[in-house]
Amino acid sequence: MSGGAPAILTADEVSKSFGSLTAVDRASLSVKRGEVFGLAGPNGAGKSTLFNLLTGIPIRPDTGRVLLDGVEIQHRSPRWIAKAGLKRTFQTEAVFESLSVLDNVRIGSAYGSPGRPSRWKAARCREALDAVELGGDPDRPAAGLSLLDRKRLMIASALVSRPTVLLLDEPAAGLDPADQDALIRLLSGIHASGVTMVIIEHVLSVLEALADRMAVLDSGRVIATGGPAEVLSDPRVVEAYLGPGAAQ
Ligand code: ADP
Ligand code: MG
Repeated sequence: MSGGAPAILTADEVSKSFGSLTAVDRASLSVKRGEVFGLAGPNGAGKSTLFNLLTGIPIRPDTGRVLLDGVEIQHRSPRWIAKAGLKRTFQTEAVFESLSVLDNVRIGSAYGSPGRPSRWKAARCREALDAVELGGDPDRPAAGLSLLDRKRLMIASALVSRPTVLLLDEPAAGLDPADQDALIRLLSGIHASGVTMVIIEHVLSVLEALADRMAVLDSGRVIATGGPAEVLSDPRVVEAYLGPGAAQ
């Protein structure tokens, strides 16, 4: 539990428009050091765009501020932000099919830790693969991995630079219930090792299992924030998911 811990990541009234579409509309949220923070909301609500705005990949907020450990980062480069300890995964499993499991993670280490000696990087790669339980056969080709193992690999690539905060964009998408449980155990272990997490997830049981607090986005706006039980029973949230009248 995070209790009264200070905010490690803050979005302060962040907005982003694409032409006439306001994808993220004055969204504010505050993630405490050490917590798992969930982000839910219907398709197109602006969740992935908000992650892009938090990490500078590949866009910037039109207005508003993003703070990492109290420092404004909305104008920083994606590389600077990654080096400062904020890493993310993408909604689709970005795996280099033709490379080995280890080489996929090595690419992550080159991006997040420029200038580090290669022995340091090799140790970080092994550590990251062990953290996702892929350390057993690092030389196998990534092409043959199951969906769950691809997700493990993507998470390892983000972990390799030892982030303080890890943002995960729909990590459970496409997994069957048994694999969802395996993913929950995996993320729970990574969180226990000291990584603060923000998880975008449609599979609400994953957020119920992992999140200390969560927020729901709808049409770019944060419509509820709080504990998962409280948020998921909020009439505005039920309506956003199921349509007008559903909460009555
Ligand atoms: P979510 O992740 O909640 O499903 P997104 O953040 O991907 O939603 O998208 C929010 C809205 O912004 C959608 O209407 C989407 O089509 C639009 N959008 C996202 N990225 C872009 C972009 N680069 N250019 C134009 N529209 C975009
Ligand atoms: Mg998305």
